[in-house]
Amino acid sequence: MGKFYAWSEAIIHPMTHALHYGNSVFEGIRAYKTPKGPAVFRLNEHMDRFMHSAGILKMKSPYSKKEIIEVIKSVIKQNDLESAYIRPLLFYSYGNLGLIPKSSPVELLVGAWEWGAYLGENALKGVYVYILPWRRVHHSQYDMSAKLGGIYVQSTICGLIAREKGCDEAVFLNLEKNVAEGPGENIFICKNGVLKTNDKSESVLEGITRSSLLEIADDLGIKTQIAPITKQDFLEADEAFFSGTAAEIAPITKAKDASEKDAPVKDHVIGSGKPGEITKKISETYSDCVRGKIKKYQQWLTYVG
Ligand code: PMP
Repeated sequence: MGKFYAWSEAIIHPMTHALHYGNSVFEGIRAYKTPKGPAVFRLNEHMDRFMHSAGILKMKSPYSKKEIIEVIKSVIKQNDLESAYIRPLLFYSYGNLGLIPKSSPVELLVGAWEWGAYLGENALKGVYVYILPWRRVHHSQYDMSAKLGGIYVQSTICGLIAREKGCDEAVFLNLEKNVAEGPGENIFICKNGVLKTNDKSESVLEGITRSSLLEIADDLGIKTQIAPITKQDFLEADEAFFSGTAAEIAPITKAKDASEKDAPVKDHVIGSGKPGEITKKISETYSDCVRGKIKKYQQWLTYVG
């Protein structure tokens, strides 16, 4: 089944359907170094979402979930990676270029490489976000529980806008003008000791990190709430952070509010302007959890070796 290609030798046809129309589905997964070798965090959940995403794009995966799990493990082994970011992609490949991929077969690729902090090494000290004037794609427009390549065009454009404005990352409001998510991250806030995040009814992908953190917070005795986050809640929070497989946990300490096209753009400090205590506690526990240091969460790890 399949073949390994050296990084510099992997080639796809320029008329690949997905290259033109974004007709692909993907996952972002991390494996961490543990005392028992590399372990993939929540591989089963990532694979369930991957197969679900393929279904939304009407794709028939040529490989089963079990087969793809074996491919992921062998890519990590083949590359001798101690830790990795893993990118499986199912895509409509070369065949026809009409919008309907009637003769474009579905192909799978899996890449893996060492990838440090997604928002930069300084992210743990706090990131500066740009609250966009553009609203997040709405849950009434497509199934937001799927990770579809083309949908990420909005994330790329808005991530670039945020950086043009001198910020580290973007934050989307939704059509209801509540806080939705980052281009590739969920958002949590803390107020008076309660940790709050939103859900799919607010036009967000309910991330796997998000659900892990909700469980970790419960275990730490931190009160949690799932409810809409208004812009005011966010700006007046004691603490705020991003969560995601790539970004892990990144405290949000400053925001540039450009969310209303006709209102002046304004800077806000979130909380004390430094990573808060609850954020730090959750971040440390998550870091230990993914590295196999906490027995209770061992069940979330798939050892590669
Ligand atoms: N929202 C979006 C739009 C994302 O792309 C991601 C990353 N997959 C997340 C949230 C966080 O999801 P997860 O924790 O599963 O990585």
